Amino acid sequence: MNQNDLVQFRGLMVAPDHPARLRAAQLIPYLIDLEENNRIDRLAHLGIPGPLVCPECGAIPGQYHLLGCSHEICPKCREKLKECGCLVLYKHGEPTL
Ligand SMILES: [Zn+2]
Ligand SMILES: [Zn+2]
Repeated sequence: MNQNDLVQFRGLMVAPDHPARLRAAQLIPYLIDLEENNRIDRLAHLGIPGPLVCPECGAIPGQYHLLGCSHEICPKCREKLKECGCLVLYKHGEPTL
């Protein structure tokens, strides 16, 4: 894919496959908690406080972030998922880091 071929999506310039990847992220409603060995519901983008549309992945309120978006909040500790120390995965084999 040519990285120069960006498309506009909710005011962001993204790769052409980005909208499809964001749709796919909606199909993953939970994280796998390796400490408790169970599922934990993901937190959708809130929009309040802060930007209505996620400035990184374009999620709108009620939508889950793109996998790996640095704005996703960890449902365990309420810190940023990418930066927190919780042992959670999107699914087996897909770390959040
Ligand atoms: Zn996002
Ligand atoms: Zn955490």
